[in-house]
Amino acid sequence: MSKILEDNVNYKCRKCGSRASVRVTYAKLLLCREHFLEYIENRVLNTMKRYGILKDTKRILVALSGGKDSLSLLHILSKIKDKTELEEIIGIHIDLGLGEYSLESINAVKKACQDTGTNCIIIPIKELMDHNLPELVELTRRPPCSLCGLIKRYILNLTAIELGVDAVALGHHMDDVLVFIIKDFLFQDNIDMAKMIPVTKGIQGLLAKKIKLLYEIYEDDLSTYAYLAGIKTTKTPCPYKYQDPFKNSIRKMMDELENYAPGFKISVARRLAKNLEKTPILEEIQPCRYCGMPSRNGICSICSLTMKIHGEPIGPKIKVKIKNKLQQGTLHL
Ligand code: SF4
Ligand code: ZN
Ligand code: ZN
Repeated sequence: MSKILEDNVNYKCRKCGSRASVRVTYAKLLLCREHFLEYIENRVLNTMKRYGILKDTKRILVALSGGKDSLSLLHILSKIKDKTELEEIIGIHIDLGLGEYSLESINAVKKACQDTGTNCIIIPIKELMDHNLPELVELTRRPPCSLCGLIKRYILNLTAIELGVDAVALGHHMDDVLVFIIKDFLFQDNIDMAKMIPVTKGIQGLLAKKIKLLYEIYEDDLSTYAYLAGIKTTKTPCPYKYQDPFKNSIRKMMDELENYAPGFKISVARRLAKNLEKTPILEEIQPCRYCGMPSRNGICSICSLTMKIHGEPIGPKIKVKIKNKLQQGTLHL
């Protein structure tokens, strides 16, 4: 974890001797702004090498919500790109139609893409599904976050397949990953646990490979990185954001253990990645009989959902709309 030092504290940067701005507790380091940014970029490079995250990966689609995690990831990627085999980074933002939150998110994404010279695709779900997220929540009576996750996963995968990129990069950091895995372990959801490892394989033309370059990066480090790098992120919280008591308790427990033994989370994350890698997660996946996207029982979650609300599976229509949108080209911001 990292902490920004108070102005009246006068420690020296370990690398250059100028005034330190940040204390990195797990590494027992004091660093100035420049060396902290470089330190985090190197940690992402090391994570990439440790797990072979960018092996055979030249073109990636980066999911951008507008928050500090995904926008920091984009900035870090643009900084380290030349040290990897990456040739093209494309950003994608899914506009959920959530008023002020969505407007602010789109602006933050556009600014980050402009600053990093990244081409971007912005996809409003209303264009694809005839409804925005609040309308879909109303129609389906499903919990907003589970509905939102399902829609985002479908659009990300479909866009990645249509673009023919090698992987989708997600902005999940280590604190989130550990909370998800521990919660899934408590509920014995082995498949979902295994989906949180740094690389989950894809299936040609059906399922995109997913990569998590922030797998070993603490959330605090990303907040500090975004702040010191001057990244403009969405400040308005999502109106559906709620505090999950299970996740909060797990997060608190992990934070206490990290305080007791700095670096504890990294060592747990490494062991989990090794063990979970063996779990087969692709075995039951088959193409949806309507839209050809991944499903576990022959009908994907979007076709099954829209059969209830539209009276027909609209996966095939979404596919055509995304194809048309991509033919118009990505936004050159
Ligand atoms: Fe979607 Fe829930 Fe996140 Fe809002 S808080 S963006 S509804 S997952
Ligand atoms: Zn320095
Ligand atoms: Zn389908």
